[in-house]
Amino acid sequence: MPGERDPLFTVEKGRMGVGLGIHGEPGIADEPLPRAADLANLLVDRVLAEEPADSTQRVGAILNGLGATKYEELFVVWKTVSRRLRDAGYTVVDPEVGELVTSLDMAGISLTLVYLDEELERFWTAPAHTPAYRKGEAAGAQAAGPRRSTESLEGTTAELAQGSDASRRAAATTYQALEAMAAAIREAEPELARMDAVAGDGDHGRGMVKGVTHALEAARAPLEAGAGVASVLAAAGDAWAGKAGGTSGVLWGQFLRALGAALGDDAAEVSGTTVAHAVRAGAARMQELGKAQLGDKTMVDALLPFTDELERRVKDGAPLSRAWEAAAAVATDAAAATADLRPRVGRARPLAEKSVGTADPGATSLAMCARVVGDVLAARESDRDTDRDIDRGTEQDTDQDPDREARR
Ligand code: ADP
Ligand code: MG
Repeated sequence: MPGERDPLFTVEKGRMGVGLGIHGEPGIADEPLPRAADLANLLVDRVLAEEPADSTQRVGAILNGLGATKYEELFVVWKTVSRRLRDAGYTVVDPEVGELVTSLDMAGISLTLVYLDEELERFWTAPAHTPAYRKGEAAGAQAAGPRRSTESLEGTTAELAQGSDASRRAAATTYQALEAMAAAIREAEPELARMDAVAGDGDHGRGMVKGVTHALEAARAPLEAGAGVASVLAAAGDAWAGKAGGTSGVLWGQFLRALGAALGDDAAEVSGTTVAHAVRAGAARMQELGKAQLGDKTMVDALLPFTDELERRVKDGAPLSRAWEAAAAVATDAAAATADLRPRVGRARPLAEKSVGTADPGATSLAMCARVVGDVLAARESDRDTDRDIDRGTEQDTDQDPDREARR
């Protein structure tokens, strides 16, 4: 991982990992380093073993170097790969042999086949012009290339509608919650990275830090412009999804957006019932997008028990902060219990066995967030209850902070 001191995994001298993920997920097997022809046979055998039932006899092929494997070496392996594919009855169309998908300077090689129908073959052979990949004559491609407009980014917050009083109060709480989450996640980053390196690619800590940091930053402008909680969570969610860079980031982003949409910008009141309903909407959105079920060893395994408990407690009449704290405790237990599970979706699925004994990183970080948000809610509730009776020194200080006052 860029920025990490220790490697995600190591392979002993004279051996190779088979079935590594391109993001640095460890391999599914560890074998003695073979000769080039044997390596070619292994790659072709494993890839053809997964040939689709309705495959055509025409294939696009990529023999890819991972960063530190020389072109000469790639071509030596390609000699056997191409012969094997021909012998198996395939016509190889426009093969690519080179460094197309690298993983920093990892030594290694990957083989990809694309089974071509008429339409795919047209695209496969089409000219292309990108910074990292060029093929054929893409006339005028550079001049005509897409340009991203930055115009629309300016001044959007000025046009945001003002939220109702209740929605703006919820937005302020949301901002504090994001602050607390950012602090907790930053502290937990190394641990989350370690957990994700067991069967995933080790980036969960970094991804969460990036996601929550950008979410917090993006939430500030709409909050200060007086927008409601839906607008604040939409901005936060979009920033999280856009900047975190992993599966969990996209899912978190959509979760926050759906949560906000259910709370709305114009609500006359944001009650425990409304919040529980909104969390349910967020969880539904996460499942709609990620397709994970309970027991698949994902964030869903913490989020669903959390949502159930929150709903139950609120229905029984508990104040929001109490209900939330109880739900966070349930989510924490549920996240820890994922250690016994085998992942059925996501990047960790191919390494399911390795993952047993380690809790799911996404469920763990979600439960952690739930806990610190619970603390924020509890503090706010006690702020309200003891408006005059402030006996904690820090409260006296922060009450005089005009920024904080404004955020309230
Ligand atoms: P990536 O897997 O892209 O590297 P992260 O490492 O940030 O992303 O997040 C991994 C976590 O994402 C997993 O621990 C799991 O909790 C969660 N996750 C992966 N796929 C899904 C899914 N389909 N639905 C819900 N959560 C998922
Ligand atoms: Mg990861």
